[in-house]
Amino acid sequence: MLSEFDLITKYFTKPISNASLGIGDDCALLMPTPGTQMAISTDMLVSGTHFFPDTDPAQLGHKSLAVNLSDLAAMGADPVAFTLALALPRAEETWLKPFSEGMFSLANLFQCELIGGDTTKGPLNICITVFGQIPLGQAIRRDNARHGDDIWISGTIGDARLALAHCRRETALNDDEFSKVLPRLQMPMPRVALGKALRKIASAALDLSDGLLGDLTHILNASKVGATVNIDALPVSSILARQPEDFRMLCALGGGDDYELCFTAPVSKRSRVLEASDKTGIPVTRVGFIESTPGLRLRNNNGELQTFSHHSFDHFLTTEK
Ligand code: ADP
Ligand code: MG
Repeated sequence: MLSEFDLITKYFTKPISNASLGIGDDCALLMPTPGTQMAISTDMLVSGTHFFPDTDPAQLGHKSLAVNLSDLAAMGADPVAFTLALALPRAEETWLKPFSEGMFSLANLFQCELIGGDTTKGPLNICITVFGQIPLGQAIRRDNARHGDDIWISGTIGDARLALAHCRRETALNDDEFSKVLPRLQMPMPRVALGKALRKIASAALDLSDGLLGDLTHILNASKVGATVNIDALPVSSILARQPEDFRMLCALGGGDDYELCFTAPVSKRSRVLEASDKTGIPVTRVGFIESTPGLRLRNNNGELQTFSHHSFDHFLTTEK
């Protein structure tokens, strides 16, 4: 059995280049580039709440960091470093090795380095804090959406919830369909390049982690505006498009874990949004617009008002997820 310090050395200590000091001292040292602001975010993943206890450790390593990098993406920040607080029932190398490999392969992709953390025995719990940087004043916040702005979504939404529904036997996908949607639940790809490309273009942004309805409402409340969304314009995969309408809407509007970006931008910047999408190879779809009347209205292609009773995920209010 490995000791606490052996496992930190063996599985979590890698050469660093962004930070001035990494793992091994009481604190790590970061030196932000002059003229930048640091963007900092924490996400905790708890066994049984955020993932099934038998989840593949490599995918869990990937996802634990991915959900954090997604928050940096939503602000338009460049990833720099992260810390890892880990509670583990046992120091099992058959778990630690794939977990650290899954985490570091994503970290390397975004040149985001592990600079510290904490390791303790306990029920499996993974808490990562990411540090990013953004040129001063260019962070894309939630509180700056304006009347008339377009509402955009990257990629497609709802497939993570669709995969979860299959795992819970709420729906039955065929093998080919399930193998295509499962990575959306287990291996989300943070939209970092798009977030950075949207600096000085998007007026507000967030990443979709708890479902479009609830997440977009965060932008509306912070910006003190309302919105209309065309449910027929929502970008969904061909697999989700084949599902019955009610269930499709539950996945697209209320399903969590998409990690796509939802952002607003002035109509005058439509061509620049499309350029950012082309440049990064990440598709974007215009799904609605911001209005001064508070509230979120859903309409279909014919302009008819639609109602949707499902709420987005809330740990203390919902049993959904
Ligand atoms: P302290 O007692 O000062 O909290 P620790 O003994 O917990 O320090 O950790 C020793 C060093 O190892 C510190 O630099 C800490 O940041 C790092 N560390 C501990 N656990 C992890 C982990 N899971 N991942 C990365 N670094 C870690
Ligand atoms: Mg400690």
